[in-house]
Amino acid sequence: MHVLILGGTSEARALAERLHGSCAATVRVTSSLAGRVAAPRLPAGEVRIGGFGGVEGLVEWVRAHAVDAVIDATHPFAETISFNAARAAATAHVPLLALRRPGWVPAAGEDWHQVASLTEAARALDGLGDRVFLTTGRMGLAAFADCPQWFLVRSVDAPDGPMPARTEVLLDRGPFALAGERELIARHRIDVLVTKDSGAAATAPKLAAAREANIPVVIVRRPPVPEGVPVATTVEEAAAWVTTAPRQLRTT
Ligand code: NAP
Repeated sequence: MHVLILGGTSEARALAERLHGSCAATVRVTSSLAGRVAAPRLPAGEVRIGGFGGVEGLVEWVRAHAVDAVIDATHPFAETISFNAARAAATAHVPLLALRRPGWVPAAGEDWHQVASLTEAARALDGLGDRVFLTTGRMGLAAFADCPQWFLVRSVDAPDGPMPARTEVLLDRGPFALAGERELIARHRIDVLVTKDSGAAATAPKLAAAREANIPVVIVRRPPVPEGVPVATTVEEAAAWVTTAPRQLRTT
């Protein structure tokens, strides 16, 4: 059985490791990465890197490589590839599962400003202070390009393209510990944190640090999973699906 994991997340890597380790005799795993990060952490098993060329390209790849099941374990905000996966799986008649870790939930007393997009996040900053800790990744910085505030932008690779005039870039890759997040917020006298609701444990300590520092959080809500696609919230659930659901679907 050949499983294609659309990756780029720690859950995708954990799932590849899990299937490659415990089901290696029966399951062939290929992980697909977009190629956005210069030196990605490579998952276990086979890896391919780069876009497929839209829905048609993905359908072609699935057919040419005799893929039996697809798991969309991409980041909750990678909307295009998730949509393409849903269309391609339906066209190629291959079962598809979305692996999505649960989103973050505000604790009592936390000052969260939930918004629908990066553009709305930029607008929501008005009146929340002058010093912003921006952790939404290097893509999409253009949404903040006209903001007058000072920004600490943290990303894995250096951003390019339009960005706020007053920006300091911090190149770093999670996991991030609470002590470090606390220190960053204090040292840069941060007034407000901006994040996407990725739900990742590796990046959650910034929320605890913001709560401790009593600063507001502007948080971008997730786009929905494409209609009709079943969702697993843990690697274990996704691994169990590989051994049962695809076979049932294939025989119906
Ligand atoms: P996106 O907007 O949903 O996808 C844009 C295009 O990139 C897709 O149409 C596809 O190109 C290609 N692509 C995306 N993921 C791919 C994958 N796993 N394998 C092969 N091609 C892929 O994606 P994005 O938001 O730019 O994210 C790119 C990757 O970074 C994703 O794999 C995601 O898991 C990871 N990531 C994203 C974020 C985020 O905040 N968005 C954060 C951390 C990690 P074709 O149409 O040519 O196939």
